[in-house]
Amino acid sequence: MSHGTLLVISAPSGAGKTTLLKKIMADVPNLGFSVSHTTRPPRPGERNGVDYHFVSREEFLAMRAAGAFLEWAEVHTNLYGTSKQAVAEKLASGVDVFLDIDVQGARQLKAAGELAAIFLFVAPPSWQELERRLSGRGTESAETVRVRLANARKEMAEAHWYDYLIVNDDLAAATAMLQAVILAERCRGRRAANGAPLTIPQP
Ligand code: ADP
Ligand code: 5GP
Repeated sequence: MSHGTLLVISAPSGAGKTTLLKKIMADVPNLGFSVSHTTRPPRPGERNGVDYHFVSREEFLAMRAAGAFLEWAEVHTNLYGTSKQAVAEKLASGVDVFLDIDVQGARQLKAAGELAAIFLFVAPPSWQELERRLSGRGTESAETVRVRLANARKEMAEAHWYDYLIVNDDLAAATAMLQAVILAERCRGRRAANGAPLTIPQP
């Protein structure tokens, strides 16, 4: 069985990463998503075990102490972490796995260098548009929007070391670019567009 590729994707909050991921998961076969653990309370419509594993701070700290996380970070005052076991199982099943994680977590994985991961950064077309999307989503208080915009400055300063940059201006164009990256990485790994392993025909 082939081993999938780890696709690490980061963006300042409000850039449209979740929207893009939902579209791409519906359009491209053989993609998986690593469901993170977080101490953040669920937003309306978010489901436990689907969007996140919502846990208490105590539960999170116990998992961290037990070495359960591949990476973890405190983001916008909440804790977030990626389960080692869940990612290993998904990759071993042959699907390409998206990690939707912040720049601190992405840096940890890049520095550890243990997993051959591809790093993608999603940027908004402008600061005004980021602010508009973040406020327009209507899920955050004015104070949370302020914290997230302040963090966005630090996050954008990290975009330069990622393997790929996708500017999410027009959603269809950004989705097409993300799809192109996934397909290119599959070609590089000698796999078909659907992710299946390829053998080079012998004469
Ligand atoms: P993130 O996951 O990066 O925090 P979301 O995917 O929740 O961001 O998107 C933030 C808001 O911006 C949502 O209301 C979403 O519908 C909207 N949005 C996402 N992409 C676009 C786009 N290309 N053009 C206009 N609005 C967008
Ligand atoms: P949100 O609260 O908007 O869902 O996510 C806030 C930020 O936390 C986003 O930048 C998202 O990528 C990041 N995030 C989500 N899960 C993880 C994780 O497991 N690890 C890290 N480091 N960041 C995460």
